[in-house]
Amino acid sequence: MQQFDHFINGKNTPPENGEYLAVINPCNGQQIASIARGNGADVDKALKSSEDAFKPWSKKTMAERVALQHKAADAMRSNIEDLAQTISSELGRPLEGCYREIERSADLLDYYAEEALRLKGEIPMMNVEGEKVLIIRQPIGVVVSITPFNYPITLLVLKIGAALAVGCTVTSKPAEDTPLSTLKLARLFHEAGFPHGVFNVITGKGREIGDELVAHKIPRKITFTGGTSVGQRIAKIAADTNKRVTLELGGQSPAIVCEDADIAEAAKAIAKHAFANSGQFCYRVNRVYAHQNIYDQFMSLLCAEVEQFKVGDVADRSCTHGPLVNEKIFKTSDEQSKDARLKGADFKVGGHRLLGGIYDKGYYFAPTVIGNTSHDMQIMTEETFGPVLGVMKFESLDDAINLANDSIFGLAAYVFSKDIGKCIQLSETLEAGSVWVNKIQRSYHLAPFGGVKQSGMGREKSVHGLEEYTELKTIYLNY
Ligand code: NAP
Repeated sequence: MQQFDHFINGKNTPPENGEYLAVINPCNGQQIASIARGNGADVDKALKSSEDAFKPWSKKTMAERVALQHKAADAMRSNIEDLAQTISSELGRPLEGCYREIERSADLLDYYAEEALRLKGEIPMMNVEGEKVLIIRQPIGVVVSITPFNYPITLLVLKIGAALAVGCTVTSKPAEDTPLSTLKLARLFHEAGFPHGVFNVITGKGREIGDELVAHKIPRKITFTGGTSVGQRIAKIAADTNKRVTLELGGQSPAIVCEDADIAEAAKAIAKHAFANSGQFCYRVNRVYAHQNIYDQFMSLLCAEVEQFKVGDVADRSCTHGPLVNEKIFKTSDEQSKDARLKGADFKVGGHRLLGGIYDKGYYFAPTVIGNTSHDMQIMTEETFGPVLGVMKFESLDDAINLANDSIFGLAAYVFSKDIGKCIQLSETLEAGSVWVNKIQRSYHLAPFGGVKQSGMGREKSVHGLEEYTELKTIYLNY
């Protein structure tokens, strides 16, 4: 079984304390590798290496950095089989989705590289003799990236693709459950020609090394994707040293299905999006408000879609959905289902842990649709991050809007109606970073993504995502 060290300064670097942690395949409970259990000394080593690498990396021309980034994207495509298999076995996700994750992430690297070439400063047209004001952009400095388990490469590339292109260096801490794909990616970047120390990876437990990574004096920015409570802790610690932060946090995204919607289309889109990656998906549909006149029709179409899912070990290619990654993530689906049952909700599909045979080896939860819900149930107000969907009837559009906005979260929202005026009114009124209307495609690289309220701070993707890794500097030039 393979043992992985930290990847620091272009080298496999054993942990100072000599300790390793097991990485488990969540489908069958078997150990697939071990990873270094980082501590404060490892954090210090990684960040010093990032600091040493920063000066020469930031001095390279944009064209040089961009050329390397395209090479890294090509290396991802050439190694897609290994990377996808790695994600599939550490996360327990069907392989098809893992291939798409690598393809989309390689495309995102290319996109960021091309957009970086178009970054510009400004010279205001002041017409003052002997003076010019130059407004330039510079890389922020060393960045700490902390990512969750659910899309280990996509969520990482959202950060490093922007940070490295503009001249920052990065020390990355992947999730304890899914660190292997990140370690392999760092090696590919190195082989593609990225200099030592530009992209380091330190592994271990977030609660053991997180504070040290965030409080350390070297990094100038923390970029984090994960749960809201961890994100808030990071923001507080980062504030002590005035570090920049980008936070992509939890979601509890609502969908509104109006009376005049294409009901079949809405049911199909919502079933796909709510249960993708077994619901371990930040901007999944978590709750649906369906107009009372189409509620029954919508429910039967939705349940028919969900009943087609096949849950199991993803080594069986006919399985559409795998297990939940660990006990902590599983517990939320279980507790929210029990809470809704106690409060009298109507379970249309699922609602329980799957047991027997392979199911006993992991945390498998049946895809679940719960009807007749209300806002005193956890499923309608708390993030699930699992394969459980709550549905509630509404009478008037105002009620639907109030219910949809009755949340501490604001990551995404979804609207289904054939009346485009109503769609625009709803899109403007819903408190969310992104709104999808009448269809749910994956978010595009050229559009900013991020949350409002307690779903986050800052944006990833698009030119705005690149700018988050730069600082503006003003030069008063007198001649
Ligand atoms: P999590 O517990 O917050 O973990 C995320 C990352 O933070 C992991 O690498 C984790 O390390 C690390 N971490 C844990 N404690 C830390 C600490 N005290 N200081 C610094 N880092 C720490 O999140 P999760 O429950 O695994 O992931 C699911 C959450 O991520 C959901 O809330 C989901 O909505 C959110 N998410 C948001 C987006 C978005 O774009 N808005 C995208 C995907 C996921 P360990 O793994 O070692 O604990």
